[in-house]
Amino acid sequence: MVETLSIAVIGAPGVGKTSIIRQFIYNDFSEVYTPTRTRYVYRPSVILNGNMYELKILDVPPISSFPSSSSQVSRLCLGNFIRGGFKQVPILVVGNKRDLQRQRFMPRRAVSVLVKKTWKCGYVECSAKFNWHVVLLFKELLGIAVARGMRQNHTSIRLQGALQRNRCTIM
Ligand code: GDP
Ligand code: MG
Repeated sequence: MVETLSIAVIGAPGVGKTSIIRQFIYNDFSEVYTPTRTRYVYRPSVILNGNMYELKILDVPPISSFPSSSSQVSRLCLGNFIRGGFKQVPILVVGNKRDLQRQRFMPRRAVSVLVKKTWKCGYVECSAKFNWHVVLLFKELLGIAVARGMRQNHTSIRLQGALQRNRCTIM
């Protein structure tokens, strides 16, 4: 039996959401920007602390108004995506393109304090381009989700798919 965790990746167009997901799952990065037009669900399997989880990673196309609370996130993006009732959805704020850090307009420390202290969310900076902190950010998110009991109904194990090359990440 394997448990399923659902993750919605949301944010402004062009910030690197699809790149983060594809780097995480396929170790693949493209400089070419292909805007995401339809929602797409990736289904990788991961092993965290000796337990196997199936992830449903939802890559969301641009949305008109940005959600400002976790309940809005739930309603806007997850809708039918996650079955069953909602608990407080853990939010991890990700600052991507860390490799371009010379062009940043706000010091990392200031962003981190704002996100953690004021928004009460986790904060990780990463670079999808150089695969820097990409596994870490999913690991952080999963850690919070598992600790908060966000796991969903058990699904039957799909070992065949999970053990294919590049489909199972050991964190
Ligand atoms: P999305 O619209 O949020 O899904 O953004 P994409 O993943 O499609 O990426 C948008 C553009 O940013 C693409 O041209 C990527 O090559 C580029 N990009 C994504 N992540 C990084 C990164 O970490 N560093 C740099 N320098 N460019 C990135
Ligand atoms: Mg995209």
